[in-house]
Amino acid sequence: MRQPLIAGNWKLNGTRNSVVELASEISAGAASLPVEVLVCPVVVHLADVLAVVGNSPVHLGAQNCSEARTGAYTGEVSADMLQEFGCEYVILGHSERRALYHETSEQIAQKCLSVQQAGMTPVLCVGETLEEREAGQVEAVIAAQLDAMLEAGGVDAFRQMVVAYEPVWAIGTGKTASPEEAQAVHAMIRQKISSQNADIASALRILYGGSVKADNAASLFGQADIDGGLVGGAALDATSFLAICEAAASTVEKTAS
Ligand code: PEP
Repeated sequence: MRQPLIAGNWKLNGTRNSVVELASEISAGAASLPVEVLVCPVVVHLADVLAVVGNSPVHLGAQNCSEARTGAYTGEVSADMLQEFGCEYVILGHSERRALYHETSEQIAQKCLSVQQAGMTPVLCVGETLEEREAGQVEAVIAAQLDAMLEAGGVDAFRQMVVAYEPVWAIGTGKTASPEEAQAVHAMIRQKISSQNADIASALRILYGGSVKADNAASLFGQADIDGGLVGGAALDATSFLAICEAAASTVEKTAS
């Protein structure tokens, strides 16, 4: 059985004091839940947040990294550096990185490999824009995003990976894919990996992201191929984030009973 993962993408938010407070509240509330909880602050807050979550079950991740491991790349941060700061996961290919910083699927695939070489797990984000959805291109867009990873690392690259399906039109907009819409894409992603290796596909965690909130989380997480969430706005409030974690926990408890 796949353990649900709830990941908080804190984006470009917080101060040293506020992230410590947020991390403390999440660590206290998440301690007894049967789900994996991950927080991803900005890179300069990693050490402060690690000091709080280091002795708790909450995991630490970053929001991006360089595909290069070392060298003359001014302003970049490498996967090894993030690993040294206690990161276990790195979000890669977020639609904001693709749209605002023109990251290509090929570059994102190289970043994923770099993260894996450093012993961490990439959270590879894929998703279509509204125009692509309306043009009936959802499957083609996501297949192409996954193909870049398959070409760079083969299906084996998906052994140590989390995929996050994040429809771009649902991120930060308050619009959420319906549970059925999301499930259809998650099933397609799993099927695509399964066509190359069924065991890797059945172990692969596929998160949904896009305006996940406490009141829609349970219906999304109740879908067969949705293994948790990548949460933006609602991850900045401990009460909301913990309610989402609890919604994921309730799906585990239902399956177990
Ligand atoms: C995200 O940025 O990954 C995200 C899903 O944001 P939000 O939950 O705010 O839509």
